[in-house]
Amino acid sequence: MAKEELECSFCGRKKPETSLLIAGLDAHICDRCIEQAHGIVLEEAKDINKNGLDSDLTLKKPKEIKDFLDEYIIGQDFTKKVMAVAVYNHYKRLLQPESDDDIEIQKSNIVMVGQTGTGKTLMAKTIARMLNVPLAIVDATVLTEAGYVGEDVESILTRLLQAADYNLEKAERGIVFIDEIDKIARKGDNPSITRDVSGEGVQQALLKLLEGTTVNVPPKGGRKHPDQKFIEVNTEHILFIAGGAFDGIERVISKRLNMQAVGFSASMSDEHIERDNLLKYIIPKDLKDFGLIPEIIGRLPVLTHMDPLDKETLRAILTQPKNAIIKQYEKLFEMDDIEFEITSPALDYIVEKAIEYKLGARGLRSLCEAIFTDAMFDLPSSDLSSFKVDKEYAQFKLEKSTIKKLKAVS
Ligand code: ADP
Repeated sequence: MAKEELECSFCGRKKPETSLLIAGLDAHICDRCIEQAHGIVLEEAKDINKNGLDSDLTLKKPKEIKDFLDEYIIGQDFTKKVMAVAVYNHYKRLLQPESDDDIEIQKSNIVMVGQTGTGKTLMAKTIARMLNVPLAIVDATVLTEAGYVGEDVESILTRLLQAADYNLEKAERGIVFIDEIDKIARKGDNPSITRDVSGEGVQQALLKLLEGTTVNVPPKGGRKHPDQKFIEVNTEHILFIAGGAFDGIERVISKRLNMQAVGFSASMSDEHIERDNLLKYIIPKDLKDFGLIPEIIGRLPVLTHMDPLDKETLRAILTQPKNAIIKQYEKLFEMDDIEFEITSPALDYIVEKAIEYKLGARGLRSLCEAIFTDAMFDLPSSDLSSFKVDKEYAQFKLEKSTIKKLKAVS
């Protein structure tokens, strides 16, 4: 067949009438038909995703959610379990058909209490990854009451919209992780004397968001401006996860536990209390005594704690999770055809340093960078095919590096 006689098998246009004609096995398609077909595909996909949820979602039971978390997060079994149930219930609530009874399932917003670097953000990220929903991570410290210098609480939703590529339906089923929620606590136990107005103001502003409301959100963020077009976001199905270190809350817990012990034999109750992990015993009232207003606590009904990371956990974090730091380095070297190996004493050494520098899990990465950077610079241009790191090598590289300065800061 002559070239100009070719035609689109879908619309019949001759080749000269098209800008492009693509040949298949025994058919052709023109640029216009491709565009049109693409439009149909998008429409269909939109219908399928109408409820904004991944189709797997309904199938994941709490046990499966926990199994997924186990792949990425070491330890923290209590929180994983609590999270799995909360997330499962949250999505059950979303999928709940309009019912004729009056039982309305309350939102399962979560608050996680735990030292920095124990995996709170990782927990929120992993949940979002599993559900394939957008995640916005915001820092409560930048939030202020409307009218003050800082960000209005609505900015949280701007972030979520951005994370969802401005797909409103997706955003409305997303997850918001509010870090450092403890920093907006009212200072001091006595509200009438040391009332910290701005902290409490932010808490008040957050209340509505947590509960479920419709908010006019400036899509590009920034201050509300009369000319800016707003997007109306409904927060009813957004899962809020708050996290904070709540420094000093152990004292509150300890005080309460001691008071409870009155009347019992103190030594007996002591036996059952793990003094080095008091967070385990946290109850909502402790958050109130710390300075969160009762209404906020009520809207974060799921309370959980993160365990401090001990040596074994840090060691496991280096090598075990699906995208463990050491696995990442292995992969990086492998891409240059270099076999990477690190000895057990070298790993122990990195863990010891992370503890010594009080860097927690977050420090593991910086330590590895300090140790491996030279090799990552030199080896790709060398003809070496293997790279073995032992304790002496790690020690030598670390002692030369600037990371030691961190010690002074911490
Ligand atoms: P937080 O939010 O509690 O301050 P992050 O979740 O940001 O802590 O943790 C910092 C880093 O430490 C994460 O990127 C992660 O690699 C690592 N990490 C912390 N805890 C764990 C854990 N339990 N399992 C695996 N990795 C962890």
